[in-house]
Amino acid sequence: MRSVEVSFHVKMRDYTTIGIGGAADRMAFPRSPAEVREVLTAERRAGRTVHFLGAGSNLLVSDGGVAGTVICTKKHLSKVVFLSDGSVVAEAGVMLPRLAVLCALSGLSGMEPLSGIPGTAGGALTMNAGAFGRRIGELTEWVEVADGAGEILRIEARAIRFGYREAEYPVRGVVVRAGFRFAGGTREAVFGQMRQLNEKRRAKQPWGEKTFGSTFRNPAGAEGAGALLERAGMKGRCEGDACFSEKHANFLVNRGRATAADVRRLMARGRDAVVVLTGVLLVPEVKMWGDFDV
Ligand SMILES: Cc1cc2nc3c(=O)[nH]c(=O)nc-3n(C[C@H](O)[C@H](O)[C@H](O)COP(=O)(O)OP(=O)(O)OC[C@H]3O[C@@H](n4cnc5c(N)ncnc54)[C@H](O)[C@@H]3O)c2cc1C
Repeated sequence: MRSVEVSFHVKMRDYTTIGIGGAADRMAFPRSPAEVREVLTAERRAGRTVHFLGAGSNLLVSDGGVAGTVICTKKHLSKVVFLSDGSVVAEAGVMLPRLAVLCALSGLSGMEPLSGIPGTAGGALTMNAGAFGRRIGELTEWVEVADGAGEILRIEARAIRFGYREAEYPVRGVVVRAGFRFAGGTREAVFGQMRQLNEKRRAKQPWGEKTFGSTFRNPAGAEGAGALLERAGMKGRCEGDACFSEKHANFLVNRGRATAADVRRLMARGRDAVVVLTGVLLVPEVKMWGDFDV
């Protein structure tokens, strides 16, 4: 792995949008799918666990940190190519807001509802991220995944089961690149739509705060996780500096020096309050790395 950039004892709080988390043993920053393959092969040979990181916008890392190697796609793996047939190929680490702006500049429509999600294409394809009725899976033609042995396989979208905030791939591994197809549009109309949807988002959700977005998945049924937490009196409730936002109860924010343990305690309080009041058991949407006591 001599050619790949690697850092050691990396503070995960600097790589997660909630700004929490102990150190990762090592973090690799591949510049190409070939370098991802190189990292996977080397780490497999060394018998080390590998974790995949995008923008860390849906992630809680424990205060004790994470063992093994984290592959960070956001730093260098972010090329986007516009093909003459109208399709777009994006590497896993490209941020959705950037992809949306590049599409708008090229007069392509489709990304507008996703333009306010602060994650990477790879993270979004893993979570099937969505907003305003659009999910990324609907725009996807194919995804390239590097498996544990480092082999890169192209999977057609129809072979991927895109569900609510989840995607099931026929192979396990790291998303390195994907092909998308968008509709035609005009720059003005696409930018106008993006502005309008992002204003809606700002009106409803905390903006510019340290958060990992939705804490719990919306359960089946009419009432969302935010409404249930609010009804259970959890809006604005805190453990240390970890608080359920006053603006949207399902958004958990770090008001300063919150720890992962604070977050977990608050999540447990929220879950228990909702189940006692309504019988609905909320399930976390946020992914968690490391060991937790609560
Ligand atoms: C303010 C805010 C608003 C948000 N709004 C929305 C919203 O409207 N809709 C929505 O769906 N989500 C939303 N989110 C959550 C989050 O942005 C999405 O889930 C996003 O898709 C996560 O992408 P990421 O790159 O940050 O992934 P990360 O948080 O880095 O990782 C999330 C999971 O994906 C895996 N992963 C990441 N990259 C790869 C890869 N290349 N290959 C394989 N696995 C990978 C990780 O291992 C982890 O399990 C919001 C978050 C914030 C902070």
